[in-house]
Amino acid sequence: MEQALCTISSNVEVMPGTHLMWLEAPGIASSAEPGQFVTVRCGDFTLRRPLSIHYVSSPEIALLFRVAGKGTLWLSQRQPGERVDVLGPLGNGFGMPPTESRQSKHLLLVAGGMGIAPLVFLTRYAASRHRITLVHGASTAAQLYPWNVVRTGSSSIGKTQRNLPPLPEGVQFLPVTEDGSAGKKGKVTDALPSLLNRADEVYACGPVEMYKTMALTPDENRGEGEMGSNLKLRKCQVSLEMRLGCGFGACYGCTISTRRGLRQVCRDGPVFELDDIIWQEVKL
Ligand SMILES: Cc1cc2nc3c(=O)[nH]c(=O)nc-3n(C[C@H](O)[C@H](O)[C@H](O)COP(=O)(O)OP(=O)(O)OC[C@H]3O[C@@H](n4cnc5c(N)ncnc54)[C@H](O)[C@@H]3O)c2cc1C
Repeated sequence: MEQALCTISSNVEVMPGTHLMWLEAPGIASSAEPGQFVTVRCGDFTLRRPLSIHYVSSPEIALLFRVAGKGTLWLSQRQPGERVDVLGPLGNGFGMPPTESRQSKHLLLVAGGMGIAPLVFLTRYAASRHRITLVHGASTAAQLYPWNVVRTGSSSIGKTQRNLPPLPEGVQFLPVTEDGSAGKKGKVTDALPSLLNRADEVYACGPVEMYKTMALTPDENRGEGEMGSNLKLRKCQVSLEMRLGCGFGACYGCTISTRRGLRQVCRDGPVFELDDIIWQEVKL
């Protein structure tokens, strides 16, 4: 972990209200793993704002963030050449299938809204060894990660989207929108029952309501009551994006109840096993 003043290489609005910022951060880039995050000092605010590491292209890292309030608004207004105070990489990221296992696995990545941010970095790590399906749910087409733009090559990429990280070849991207303007209509969790039969492991990032639904999602291919009839009985890792205080384990402001006892989201997480979390007690 290091604290550094990082120069902004670019900062563009890639979806309405969502910015992609590339930063020169060689120290963080060299050690970052998918699911880890950084905290950024935003203007005069005392609390640093946590943001997932969206991608790494050494010596740069990318952050993908929605303008949610004053801190992220301040960040969205920064210009290339300016410097921002970044601390990271922080937390424990996603655990990958063991490297000694030569067998390719099918990984199902589930993104709810801005939960897409850490999962794109995960695709880069995992795509060379595993088959990946990435399902992204958003309210409407404009809020979907522009996967089709990323894939079509430089001639059709607009100025604002030129800096988007690529999705590796072979990653199957499934859009889901609540208004049906792209992909399947509904919530991302509606798409899960039929996808689970193909998945060996599940990785998710999204709002708590999404996780609570996932914990109860049935698997269409298995009978009620059978082992594995419920997603929470599979290996499923989720990243909790709750409000943090200090971001490095000093203030205990992000403590949650798990089946292994109390845990801090910033230091023990943000990635946990879905089944370990006592969801009734989580209020974000
Ligand atoms: C580990 C981690 C990784 C994250 N990664 C990303 C990311 O990659 N991209 C991204 O856009 N956001 C991410 N977030 C959420 C992001 O940190 C908040 O949106 C941000 O801190 C809000 O700061 P603000 O000053 O703009 O808003 P504030 O003025 O502090 O709050 C504005 C609104 O946003 C809500 N809000 C504040 N913090 C959070 C939060 N942690 N989660 C959800 N809603 C919140 C508040 O309840 C309020 O309604 C992450 C959070 C965590 C804990």
